Amino acid sequence: MGEHILIIGGGQSAVQLADSLRSEGFAGKLTLISQDTELPYQRPPLSKDFMAEGAAPELLPLRAESFYEQQDIDLIRATRVEMVDPRARIVHLHDGRQLGYDKLVFATGARNRPLPCPGGDLEGVHGLRDAADAHALHAALPGARRVVVIGAGFIGLEFAAAARARGIEVTVLEFAPRPMGRAVSAPLSGWFTKAHLAAGIQLRLEEGVAEIAEHSGGLQVLSSTGNSYLADLVVYGVGVLPNAELAEAAGVPVDNGITVDEQLRTGLEGIYALGDCANFPSVHCGSSIRLESVQNATDQARTLARILTGQPQPYRMLPWFWSTQGSIRLQIAGLAAPGDEPVVLGDLSSGRFSIALLREGVLVAVESVNRPADHIAARKLLSGGQRITADRLEGITSLKELSAPMAPVA
Ligand SMILES: Cc1cc2nc3c(=O)[nH]c(=O)nc-3n(C[C@H](O)[C@H](O)[C@H](O)COP(=O)(O)OP(=O)(O)OC[C@H]3O[C@@H](n4cnc5c(N)ncnc54)[C@H](O)[C@@H]3O)c2cc1C
Repeated sequence: MGEHILIIGGGQSAVQLADSLRSEGFAGKLTLISQDTELPYQRPPLSKDFMAEGAAPELLPLRAESFYEQQDIDLIRATRVEMVDPRARIVHLHDGRQLGYDKLVFATGARNRPLPCPGGDLEGVHGLRDAADAHALHAALPGARRVVVIGAGFIGLEFAAAARARGIEVTVLEFAPRPMGRAVSAPLSGWFTKAHLAAGIQLRLEEGVAEIAEHSGGLQVLSSTGNSYLADLVVYGVGVLPNAELAEAAGVPVDNGITVDEQLRTGLEGIYALGDCANFPSVHCGSSIRLESVQNATDQARTLARILTGQPQPYRMLPWFWSTQGSIRLQIAGLAAPGDEPVVLGDLSSGRFSIALLREGVLVAVESVNRPADHIAARKLLSGGQRITADRLEGITSLKELSAPMAPVA
């Protein structure tokens, strides 16, 4: 019998890891344990196309059902891992089963941070993380005339744009001074503010939620500035919490997620973590970070598959991300930080532009709006290890100009 690798989770990183382990030649036993009842599916469409008008859409599976059998992957669904015993190398499942392992991987993802206000758990108040949330919202939207969205992060704004496209009155409350403030530059936040206002979304900045109450068959949202909004539906996206409690209870070090090193190893021998639940040292930000993105989940899985098949290497892939808000496609390459200097490439008013972010005069990230070719160029430039200094951005309107082959020096 070969080695047994057991993966806890049935999301983006878990499925990619199982797939990559097989393509790297791992021939031992492979088990995925997912608490979800559905075949593992993609989350990004849930806040976008899934919310469009029409019949309830299908979940997009990460792999076809036949994949698991063909690849000899034992996918155990609809039961959760309740306890890990790292000394005995056994996991205890909710359905009473106990499974042994040789290597264990936490791919447990994250969950919605609950709304920290009275009424946050009333009927009609929805989070948006999984298939059940998305189905419930899709079913409630046809009866909704007014929606309040709490939190102008990616998921809140994606949902707001989708609801607005259905003709619903949408108010977004955001306690910070600008939308997506933790993730994007100030000029980009400003541009998105105008775009969402132009689409008819009421975007209320520096206004949080104080309380939600029932009100004549609907809901009333009281804001931190004393305003009141009536809603048929409230959707919140106020961040996530890593699912790290199971690991912590097993004695695995945890600090804003499961702490791992560059090879995705936890502090316990034979135990690894990746994806939304893992806090890893990033060369791109110079400290430890937890990233919530498909790129991070997928690339960490590919790297871990190589590590687990005897090809040790650090995880250093360039972070990149996308968000679709109505007809706006945002793509980000690299990791920006507060204080980075933004340089606009192109014309903001055209709706197709990029913003280069410089730290100490060197390019560290690029935000592209409706400019996919710029995004691809940015990923090439940033992951190719080239040092792009501010002077090279002077006078250019698109990053493609930089990635074009340079003229030979005479
Ligand atoms: C609505 C939405 C839209 C998004 N849009 C984008 C986007 O546009 N672009 C982008 O890059 N990223 C997007 N993301 C983020 C992206 O989907 C996540 O970063 C990615 O899914 C993380 O993969 P993961 O495997 O770490 O976690 P997940 O995919 O969340 O999977 C974790 C799995 O582990 C299971 N699990 C947890 N604990 C246990 C247990 N004890 N036992 C058994 N199973 C357990 C969970 O049920 C879950 O299925 C979006 C996320 C959401 C929710």
